[in-house]
Parts: sequence; structure tokens; C-alpha cells
Amino acid sequence: MAFVILEACGNEKAAECTQICPVDCIEQGEDQYYIDPNLCIDCGACVAACPVEAIVDEHDLTEEQEEQLEKAEAFFG
Ligand code: SF4
Ligand code: SF4
Repeated sequence: MAFVILEACGNEKAAECTQICPVDCIEQGEDQYYIDPNLCIDCGACVAACPVEAIVDEHDLTEEQEEQLEKAEAFFG
């Protein structure tokens, strides 16, 4: 399980989330930031730090948003 960053991040990218993550698993991609699903400990701290509410629990993703998790997995290889 992990938290996932949605496309809304791409318009903001101020990276408050990276400063609050206790395991440092959020990295900048070309178009947005991504959470490493293998390192995320599901603490949820980043959710409140994001000013555009771009971070959601994997289980709350809509079918359309599922590809954001796949993009994160691909980004971290
Ligand atoms: S705080 Fe939100 S919008 Fe800003 S970089 Fe993190 S996920 Fe993206
Ligand atoms: S839920 Fe916690 S561990 Fe996962 S990315 Fe957010 S702050 Fe980091």
C-alpha cells in the first residue's frame, strides 16, 4: 500500500511534501513529483502538507487515477 500523487501536483510543485516525509520517498519527476510505492510507510503526513490536495491513499484512487500509481512504479523502476 502507498500514497499516490495526482496530476494536480504538476501545476504547483512547491515540494512541501518532500520536506515532511519521514522516509524521504518523494522525488521530482519530469512533470510532477512521485512517491516511491515501495518505500512509503503510509503515514499520511504528506497529505496535509500538499496545498493542492494532490496526494491520496492508493485505495481511494478512482479507476482513472490508477495510472498515477503505475506512473510512480515506472518512475522508480
Ligand atoms: S506538496 Fe503536493 S503539489 Fe507540492 S510537490 Fe508535493 S505533491 Fe506536488
Ligand atoms: S504517506 Fe508518509 S511515507 Fe508515504 S510519502 Fe507521504 S509522508 Fe512519505
